[in-house]
Amino acid sequence: MNIGNEGINTLEALVRGAGNIGIATHTHPDGDAIGSSVALYHYLHDLHGKDVRILLDNALPEAAGFVLDHCTGCVIRYDHKPEDVRKWASSCDLLFFLDLNGAHRTGEMAAAFEGLTAPRVLIDHHLNPQTEEFALVFSETEISSASELLFHVLMAMPDIDGDASKLPAASLTAIMTGLTTDTNNFANSTYPSTFQAASSLIAAGVDREAIIMHLYNSYPERRIRLMGELLHDRMVITDKGAAYMILDAATRERTGIRQGETEAFVNIPLTIYNVRLSLFLKEEDGIFRVSIRSKKGTSANRLAMKYFNGGGHEQASGGKLTIGREVMDASDAADYIRRVTDEFLTHEN
Ligand code: 5GP
Ligand code: MN
Repeated sequence: MNIGNEGINTLEALVRGAGNIGIATHTHPDGDAIGSSVALYHYLHDLHGKDVRILLDNALPEAAGFVLDHCTGCVIRYDHKPEDVRKWASSCDLLFFLDLNGAHRTGEMAAAFEGLTAPRVLIDHHLNPQTEEFALVFSETEISSASELLFHVLMAMPDIDGDASKLPAASLTAIMTGLTTDTNNFANSTYPSTFQAASSLIAAGVDREAIIMHLYNSYPERRIRLMGELLHDRMVITDKGAAYMILDAATRERTGIRQGETEAFVNIPLTIYNVRLSLFLKEEDGIFRVSIRSKKGTSANRLAMKYFNGGGHEQASGGKLTIGREVMDASDAADYIRRVTDEFLTHEN
């Protein structure tokens, strides 16, 4: 991983000159979003004494909550305290945007950044970065995660100087968490640089077993029972090789499933030999949130952009369908998926 000197010098000067700092990430933050944010928080706060807040649009998955153990009070949530987020953002003289390709991906919270003049730094791994929004851009798509990219950036900073053990332990744990969740535990999107980063993190003392315990062996029973129900009763596989599952609001309520607890359901149908594309839809207030995964040779990103108002990465993307406008209900959404995936898999591949 080659991070240019010029970018690092600029970043160092921006950090040195900053008082209050804000770190923002995408709406519905996942392990990589929160992992990279917490890692950067500890670097800026613990090593540089900066006053920093992580600004979240809404809740993070419970399984990833342990990364916040060492920074109680470092998060302000826009869905709880929009005014506090606004106030903090306006007080900042440096704003970081992590794991997103443009400020619009912060969701409702995007309004809090409108018109602010503080320089913005992007650290991201998505396609189509909106570089004109930022004073400084670290954007790399051939990399596992924003957490991995942040790791390489921090390693290039003069105070760390390539020695991971100089980073706060909480940063190392948070980076390993993001790296683990975005690669589906080192199954997808891994590069030589990914294993190099993981190796340095473990050598510097990261307890990977503890992270795995939190992420993958601490689920509530309801998640596994719902997963079974969806796979057994609801999964549909089309002739063209698209699999889809729809979690409607009634089932969500009946099972008591919470935000973040359906993470990675979308990966499972892709393990079937003739499935090229997997979609998971979850009904939320007025929308179906859409998760898309594909095998190599089929573009989840193009499907998300063309039919689901979204985007992401080649093999892992997301988007949404508005209820009452694009589809009326779950059965209508199923018809829509069959139609667009048929069209897509016939003409685009
Ligand atoms: P997930 O399915 O895990 O929610 O998201 C997979 C990938 O797609 C993530 O990298 C995420 O950032 C991206 N993504 C999810 N939802 C959206 C969306 O509504 N718009 C865009 N542009 N990207 C999304
Ligand atoms: Mn990510």
